[in-house]
Amino acid sequence: MSEAAPSKRLYIKTYGCQLNVYDSERMADVLRPLGYAMTDQAEGADLVVLNTCHIRDKATEKVYSELGRIKRMKARKAAAGDGVMTIAVAGCVAQAEGAEIMNRQPAVDLVVGPQAYHRLPELIARAHRQSGEALAADFTADEKFDALPAERAATGVAAFLTVQEGCDKFCTFCVVPYTRGAEYSRPLDAVLAEAEQLAAQGVREVTLLGQNVNAYAGEGGLSGLVRRLAHIPGLARIRYTTSHPKDMDEALIAAHGEVEALMPYLHLPVQAGSDKVLRAMNRAHTADSYLRLIEKIRAARPDMALSGDFIVGFPGETEADFQATLKLVAEVGYASAFSFKYSRRPGTPAASMPGQVDEDVKEDRLARLQALLNDQQAAFNQACVGRALPVLFERPGRKPGQVVGRSPYLQPVHIEGSESLIGEIRSVAIGSAGRGSLTGALVANPRLEPA
Ligand code: SAM
Ligand code: SF4
Repeated sequence: MSEAAPSKRLYIKTYGCQLNVYDSERMADVLRPLGYAMTDQAEGADLVVLNTCHIRDKATEKVYSELGRIKRMKARKAAAGDGVMTIAVAGCVAQAEGAEIMNRQPAVDLVVGPQAYHRLPELIARAHRQSGEALAADFTADEKFDALPAERAATGVAAFLTVQEGCDKFCTFCVVPYTRGAEYSRPLDAVLAEAEQLAAQGVREVTLLGQNVNAYAGEGGLSGLVRRLAHIPGLARIRYTTSHPKDMDEALIAAHGEVEALMPYLHLPVQAGSDKVLRAMNRAHTADSYLRLIEKIRAARPDMALSGDFIVGFPGETEADFQATLKLVAEVGYASAFSFKYSRRPGTPAASMPGQVDEDVKEDRLARLQALLNDQQAAFNQACVGRALPVLFERPGRKPGQVVGRSPYLQPVHIEGSESLIGEIRSVAIGSAGRGSLTGALVANPRLEPA
C-alpha cells in the first residue's frame, strides 16, 4: 500500500512543557501516514492543532484568543476555495475543558485529551464526516480486510443484496471507516423492491450484506427488514452478514426464534478474548458481554451455527491474552471462522501503538488458533452425520451426476442427483462429513415446501 498520499498541511502549535513537545511529535507521527506533512504556518493549513498547557492561569484565555485568530484563517481558506481547515485542541486545556471548548468556540472541530492521541485518525474522520468533507483517499483498500464478505459466488438461486455500507465503529486496526465512510442504510422500500425482483427471477435465498449489516437503520431495523422479506413469495431463506456484537439487539435475536426463513447461521466477529486487547481494539464489547450475547442468541435459536473473525498478535497481546482467545473459542464452539494475523495498516491507530508483536509469534498463535477452530468445524460437521437436513440446491457438482446445495448452517452438501433439483429445498440424509462440506442422499420424500 502507498503511504505517499497527497500532502496535506499540518500546523501544530505547542504550548508549555517538554512533555507537550514530545506529544506534538507523536501526533505528527500518527498523522504522517494519513498524508499530513508539517508546516510552520497556520495560514492555509489543512489541520491546525493547538497542543495546550494548563499550568498558568491565563493559559486557557490565551488559547481562546489564539482560536479566534485561527477561526479567521479558517474562514479565509474556505472563502478562497482552498478546502476546509480542521481545528483541533489537544493537551491539558483539552483535558480540563473537554467539549466546552467547542461550545465557546464553534470553529473548533475536535478536542483530544493526552490519553487519546492514537485516536486522532478516528476523530479527524468523524469531524470530516460532520462537515461533509470527502473521504480520505489516503488508504489503499486492502481487499482482504476491506471487501465485503463473499463466502461464495452468487448463483441463480442464492443472491447477495447490499443493504448497508460503511462503518462508524472505528476499531483501531481497521481501514474500513476511512475507506468506506459513515454507516449508510438503503431505504426499506428499495431493498424490498430489489428482493421482490430477485424472487421473481427464481432466487430462493438472499444474503443481506453490509460492513455492519445489523446496524441497518432503515425503517424497522434489520429485524423489521427480515420479517418483511420473509413474506415475499418464493423467498425461502434469509441470511445476513457481517454483524457487530454491539448492534445485535433484542428484536433481531427474537426474530431468530420466530422467523422460519431466517437461517440459523450467524457471523458475529469477536476478534479476541482478552478484555485488555478488546479495549485497545476499541471494540465496545468485552469477552463476557459477547459470551452473554451468544447465550441469549442460543436461547432464541438453540441450533444456531456461529462463525467469527479473529485477529492474533494485536499490539500488546501477550501469551496470556492469546490464551484468553483460545478459552473464549473453546466456550463458544464455532461452526466456522476466519482468523488473521494482525496486519499493520499505516494511518490506523493500532499501527502506531507500542508492543507490536513479532511475526513468528503471530504465526505460532495463528497456527494454534486455527488448529482449534478447524477441530471445532470438523466436530460441528460430524455432528450432522445421521441427521436429515433441508438443503437448497444451488449448482451442479464438480463430478458428473452430482448436485451441490447448502444446509441451513451454510455447509455445502453434495449428493448424487439430477440438476433439476436446483432451486428446490429437499431433505437430505447426511452420510459423511469432511472439514468443509457434507455428503448425503435425498430422503425419499416429496419436496419439503411448495415455494
Ligand atoms: N465489520 C466487520 C466486523 O467488525 O466484524 C468486519 C469487517 S472487516 C472487513 C473483516 C475482518 O478483517 C475483521 O473482522 C478483522 O478480523 C479483519 N481485519 C481487519 N483489519 C485487520 C488488520 N489490520 N489486521 C488483521 N485483520 C484485520
Ligand atoms: Fe472494521 Fe470494526 Fe468497522 Fe468491522 S466494525 S468494519 S472491524 S472498524
